[in-house]
Amino acid sequence: MTKRMQCKDIPDQTFVDAVRRTTPVGTNWRMRWDVHTELESVFGPIPDNLFMAKARRLIDRGLIGGCPCGCRGDFHPADECLSPGYCCHPTTEETR
Ligand SMILES: [Zn+2]
Ligand SMILES: [Zn+2]
Repeated sequence: MTKRMQCKDIPDQTFVDAVRRTTPVGTNWRMRWDVHTELESVFGPIPDNLFMAKARRLIDRGLIGGCPCGCRGDFHPADECLSPGYCCHPTTEETR
């Protein structure tokens, strides 16, 4: 009876809040697995591929920044973008 979870099942704000609550490494980067752990602490278990898909959508829409493709694997709230050059942009990066 387990319904397949989808991106839209995770509220945008819940994800953004989890990124914001996660302790930054260095200046403002939240490691992907730390965010994942934080999000699961409020939401429950989330498959890794779904977590990344959701992150990609939020980055695409400018709600968070960072890397949704896994090459770096870190995120930050959109308003804490200190080094945009280091952020991955899904629209311009389709090299996989
Ligand atoms: Zn990346
Ligand atoms: Zn950024």
